[in-house]
Amino acid sequence: MNREDIQPATAQGEVLDIASPKRTKELLQRHDLTLKKSLGQNFLIDPNILNKIVGAADLDPSKGAFEIGPGIGALTQQLAKRAAKVVAVEIDQRLLPLLEETLAPYPHAQVVHGDVLDVDLHALFREHFNGLEKVSVVANLPYYVTTPILMKLLEERLPLENIVVMIQKEVAERMAAKPGGKEYGSLSIAVQYYCVPEVVTIVPHTVFIPQPNVDSAVIKLAVRERPPVEVDDEAFFFEVIQASFVQRRKTLYNNLSAKYFTKETKPELEQLLHGIGIEPSRRGETLSMEEYAKLAAALAAYLKR
Ligand code: SAM
Repeated sequence: MNREDIQPATAQGEVLDIASPKRTKELLQRHDLTLKKSLGQNFLIDPNILNKIVGAADLDPSKGAFEIGPGIGALTQQLAKRAAKVVAVEIDQRLLPLLEETLAPYPHAQVVHGDVLDVDLHALFREHFNGLEKVSVVANLPYYVTTPILMKLLEERLPLENIVVMIQKEVAERMAAKPGGKEYGSLSIAVQYYCVPEVVTIVPHTVFIPQPNVDSAVIKLAVRERPPVEVDDEAFFFEVIQASFVQRRKTLYNNLSAKYFTKETKPELEQLLHGIGIEPSRRGETLSMEEYAKLAAALAAYLKR
């Protein structure tokens, strides 16, 4: 096999895009790889979608990009064309030789083998992104672990400018939902506590190999410098929110009394809610983040937490 087959280039000597059905199939065949559904391996084959993802991240040659799941490097290549440094964590060892080949023209793009959920991300950022002012997470996420990955990135408070990810459309809608609708829940509040979400585009399943059987969306999460509400005990704040949504169709009063009150102390919950201007008959999905912050503070004071 000659060099041109391995690293196809244009007449001007530019490396060709990895993201095309032909190149993807050729690479997978030559490396004798079958894709694993269990690892969420749906690879992007459309350069327009890749451009939209990368464009939303506002990268430039002074910034870093962190990718989760590079696959065969279709997105990694586009990140490497724009960022000062790219680091990509891939769980599937079988893809490493292939990535070494496709990313050979981009020495500032590095692949780390591992499960992103187990990686010490602060250490990895210190090692690879030191000196860069801003870092974005850009990824076509494996859908089976979307929420744990995003919550890890946010809860660990990595120094991120933004997160631009392809995820399942329903999950994107839940993350961006406002109070009052059926999509609004604990995930919406958790994400909006750390970020300002924006659905960038809805993506048809035809842009992947193999095609997933759910619709997808690209979501941009602009990471906030500080949360929009003041919370003394974050763990308790999120616990109260979880408890308020345990049974969506039940009232706030019923959900909270089941978790924090006894038959005898229940009337005190009614008083407590009235005291902060929240009707006990409301459902969890109608409360704003500010109301949850007030509720958590009042409950913490009552329970002496
Ligand atoms: N970025 C490529 C693209 O857009 O074509 C591949 C995206 S594919 C949806 C998800 C990738 O994440 C796969 O390469 C898969 O092996 C990898 N992956 C799955 N679980 C992972 C984990 N826990 N940690 C790191 N990578 C993971």
